[in-house]
Amino acid sequence: MEIRDILTQQQNFFNSNTTKNVHFRIEQLKKVKAILKENESLLYRAIYEDFGKSEFETYITELSLIYHEINSFIKHTKKWSKRKKVSSGLVNFPSKSYIIPEPLGVTLVIGAWNYPYQLSLIPAISSLAAGNTVIIKPSELPDKTSEVMAKIINDNFQSNYFCVVEGGVKETTELIEQKFDKIFFTGSIPIGRIVYQAAAKNLIPVTLELGGKSPTFVLADTDIKMTAKRIVWAKFLNAGQTCVAPDYILVDKSIEEIFLLALKNEIEKYHNNKEDIDENYLRIINTNNFDRLSKLIDKDKVYVGGYLNRENRFISPTILKNITFEDEVMKDEIFGPILPVISFTNLDEVIKKVKERDKPLSCYIYAKSRKQINKLLRELSFGSGAVNESLMHLSNSKLPFGGVGLSGMGSYHGKAGFDTFSHYKSILDKPFWFESKLKYAPYSKKNIAIMKWLIE
Ligand code: NAD
Repeated sequence: MEIRDILTQQQNFFNSNTTKNVHFRIEQLKKVKAILKENESLLYRAIYEDFGKSEFETYITELSLIYHEINSFIKHTKKWSKRKKVSSGLVNFPSKSYIIPEPLGVTLVIGAWNYPYQLSLIPAISSLAAGNTVIIKPSELPDKTSEVMAKIINDNFQSNYFCVVEGGVKETTELIEQKFDKIFFTGSIPIGRIVYQAAAKNLIPVTLELGGKSPTFVLADTDIKMTAKRIVWAKFLNAGQTCVAPDYILVDKSIEEIFLLALKNEIEKYHNNKEDIDENYLRIINTNNFDRLSKLIDKDKVYVGGYLNRENRFISPTILKNITFEDEVMKDEIFGPILPVISFTNLDEVIKKVKERDKPLSCYIYAKSRKQINKLLRELSFGSGAVNESLMHLSNSKLPFGGVGLSGMGSYHGKAGFDTFSHYKSILDKPFWFESKLKYAPYSKKNIAIMKWLIE
């Protein structure tokens, strides 16, 4: 079916008001969960074929997050969809004021490839919970996962309500030219710009979940062993192909050597650090990205790893040391298993350096001193982050997830996702039995004095 026709059908279905019924929405969310459960083996197989992701990692970083979000929406959608009373103030006496959450209409979700299921399905679920219709356009790069999502959803839902349109640049370009009521995009900054510009032509509201270089501070008083353990897990999960992965380390010079050693020990504990694929470690998505990443490895600065196998698209967990802000690897988001380590002697100077760069999607702070932690939290602007942890903030649906500045606009997860796909319609509701003369002419000094008293 033509994209334009799907859109028209979704507009008609939305206008039938079916999706405004909260029970209908909850039933659909339950159905999404049931069909994902039924087809789990297909989902596991497809992602393994695309980039060697194990069942364990797929469950932890994709399916568990999706189920967690669906459960939260099933539980809260009724409450979140209710109108909320607010006070009217004396000036509007007698009246009621309330806010009605309403769905936006027909929504488009464009996904990125690195977590192909959750990056498409969590925004889609949020949109369905808010009462919209949804078209998902998954990334075309992992073609098996795109195909399996299209099959599971298109076989089980009518396209006038919820469907997947597969494709690459051509199809996405056609989609973003349509008059959607909302576009939710996850991906890179340059493509985010294209989507934003296309949406602006029709004044379509957008949420942009973009990327950036997420700094990770390791201060002198940290628990070195635990810090290394948590960072190594977060960085090399998905072979570093995670938008919120620690992109680079800023470590206090006084603990640099011992911290590097701790990183090395952790890598050796968990990863088969050879020119080979191990079951717990992913391939790079395609040769383009493999070649891009290979060029970032300065052989003279490799402290751990640096093993490459182009045929298998394998890059072993790699630590680079003696890095400065001027190195090539510090120019753009790495998005792969390469971790540059920069040491510093003056925290204020390094904060200044970070502030000179674009606002990151995430920031991680490893330290014990609350004073230093709070200083970093206060001085740096970033989307979201964690203290003495990395990545796990995503697993709490009570924490809105999104970027700031070039790392994105808008947020989702839990209630934030519901809000992102809702309009809050404000209503002042008055009876007929009383009308004050205050606002009507003839205007008098006495009336303005009373108005001032009421308002101020
Ligand atoms: P991408 O920008 O290349 O692609 C994202 C989507 O845009 C895909 O669906 C793709 O088909 C589509 N697209 C590609 N070129 C297009 C064009 N010219 N016109 C219209 N649409 C086009 O991103 P990616 O490579 O899939 O993902 C990697 C990037 O995404 C990284 O920068 C990463 O940080 C970011 N990311 C952000 C988040 C987040 O939640 N903030 C999550 C994952 C990835």
